[in-house]
Amino acid sequence: MTNDAIKERIERLRAELTQHNYNYYVLAQPSISDVDFDSQLAELAQLENQYPEFADPDSPTQKVGGDITKQFNTVKHQWPMLSLGNTYNEQELRDFDERVRKAVGDEVQYVCELKFDGLSISLTYEQGKLSRGVTRGDGLQGDEVTANVRTIKSIPNKLKPADFPEHFEIRGEVFMHRKAFERLNDERIENEEVPYANPRNFAAGTIKLQDSAEVARRPLDCFLYFLYTENRSKLFKNHWDSLEAVKRWGFHVCEHSSLCNNMEEVLAFIAHWESGRFNLSYDIDGIVIKVNSYGQQEELGFTAKSPRWAIAYKYKAEQAETQLNSISYQVGRTGALTPVANLTPVQLAGTTVKRASLHNANEIVRLDLRQGDTVYVEKGGEIIPKIVGVNLAKRLPEAQAFIYPDKCPICETPLVRKEGEANHYCPNEDGCPPQIVGRIQHFIGRKAMDIDGMGDETIETFYKLGLLTHISDLYSLYDKKDRLQQLDRFGEKSISNMLAGIEKSKEKPFEKVLFGLGIRYVGETVARKLAQYFKQIDALAAASTEEIAAVNDIGIRIAESVTEYFANPGHQEQIKLLQQYGLQFKTEVKEVVLSSDKLVGKTFIISGTFEQFSREELGNLIESNGGKLLSSISGKLNYVVAGENMGPSKLAKAEKLGIPIISDQDVLTMINGQ
Ligand code: AMP
Ligand code: ZN
Repeated sequence: MTNDAIKERIERLRAELTQHNYNYYVLAQPSISDVDFDSQLAELAQLENQYPEFADPDSPTQKVGGDITKQFNTVKHQWPMLSLGNTYNEQELRDFDERVRKAVGDEVQYVCELKFDGLSISLTYEQGKLSRGVTRGDGLQGDEVTANVRTIKSIPNKLKPADFPEHFEIRGEVFMHRKAFERLNDERIENEEVPYANPRNFAAGTIKLQDSAEVARRPLDCFLYFLYTENRSKLFKNHWDSLEAVKRWGFHVCEHSSLCNNMEEVLAFIAHWESGRFNLSYDIDGIVIKVNSYGQQEELGFTAKSPRWAIAYKYKAEQAETQLNSISYQVGRTGALTPVANLTPVQLAGTTVKRASLHNANEIVRLDLRQGDTVYVEKGGEIIPKIVGVNLAKRLPEAQAFIYPDKCPICETPLVRKEGEANHYCPNEDGCPPQIVGRIQHFIGRKAMDIDGMGDETIETFYKLGLLTHISDLYSLYDKKDRLQQLDRFGEKSISNMLAGIEKSKEKPFEKVLFGLGIRYVGETVARKLAQYFKQIDALAAASTEEIAAVNDIGIRIAESVTEYFANPGHQEQIKLLQQYGLQFKTEVKEVVLSSDKLVGKTFIISGTFEQFSREELGNLIESNGGKLLSSISGKLNYVVAGENMGPSKLAKAEKLGIPIISDQDVLTMINGQ
């Protein structure tokens, strides 16, 4: 054969095998016998072996894997992978619908999709080729598992020619069919390996394997359900159309989705799958409801955690019945008291359950728990199971109610409960051991300062020895080196590791330090937003509650907690010490080159959709000319830039406050003059 003929044969085989794969794994309509498929694949592999100059990472032969990944790279998501708000009943769903319609008007369509119980994955395609597969991770960055993703048969490594954008990201759920799970798990049991609890864990374990050939042997599948590109709304008007398009591009999109015109249709869809789900070949744990129109999605926006334009309806989880033996009370790092139910051990969804969280005093009242009750426990999305009800038929007539403690079970300080708060708190911040220890443990934790060579037990031991009572004491441990070396539990090496870890933490960015301080309600995301907005601790400490609440996605409850924190002289002292030790209390300010300063000192909010710009582009334009974007309409706002379909509630509010409503063209005029 001539070189050209070989090349042609190879390409022909690749095209045919890719098509057969698609027919089999995406359409579930096999178009060739297994024997013929294998023999064609073998021929291709043989040719590729013999003529390595024609190798191609996207060849169907590569679906068997082979690459070994020693350590997965962490990569940042271009668009954060958020979670979804959850609802468990019709009323919560109707509330969601009401919130949506209040913001965007009554013309709303919803797309209902199954909520696949797997793990989410983000796939990037460049010029029609799969270039990257990344796990969700913490939502902002995940592990790059491209080699493993390439082995998943229903994920195309190369798209058929179609009208897809040059660069796009598509998200979906990697999962394992129940049958495959059972078969593989039986094998594991036979080989005396630890079996997986459910298909989801199996899929999650598989995607993180280092040997992609092993991944290829485990049949994973993937449904795609979100498309992201720059200027998405120029390509499609809504989510439904985007799903139809990505199907044409060769992606596996679940066929059981439905476009609904109102809540009644949504509820009918949910009711249908409540029992219908057991006939599927894979697990789902609910239904995802998404606002269809991209314009409306943009209008609704996001909270810190999840989109406001989508919600998950979760089906009831598995239940078990057992005995409630006692309630114990734990004190957390913020002083919050958490009641924990001690149960007679019971099997539930593959694990033994002995304890359940009761959240707070209201929960005990709501459930009307009595001593010795027989209770129903459930495992939902949360890892810790919860009590959902009491079997009243088995209640003993003399069963006593529980008396909620009025003193801290550890330090005996009288508990406080603020107006409107569900939790009781022990106010003895500086003297209550679990709070002191918990606070320092939180500070050194992986998501905060991530101090190497130091663990939770070390903190506890050091506290008991009087070496640590405040976060800042960590940074004086170096001066107590001699004393540390006398402790028999710690070797020379582990002490130097620990001190090096502490020293290194001084480089952690401001947002991590801020999160590490453990201010009530200030989680990772909130800390990041505050750090980015205020840029340095002094500005944040000086800000009023209103100023803090004006930051995008920061609510009044968080803002109050922040100002309260900084008003406390003990906290001020701690921050001063930490500053002296050299921790980061400033956000690196990137030099932004402004195109002009025409909009400096002016604040804007963008609402609705525009002909000429996406909202992102318009926002960038405003910021690059010195303007600031605000998240909510308040007296501080100078202009509302309104496009088509502006939300009626925003409009009403702006009018009431007399804030000028301008167009995108007006913004251009402000910048360019005329
Ligand atoms: P949760 O983990 O309960 O916050 O639910 C959010 C997760 O549901 C997402 O991160 C996805 O991994 C998953 N999910 C499953 N099916 C869908 C779907 N059809 N649309 C969006 N997300 C889905
Ligand atoms: Zn206490």
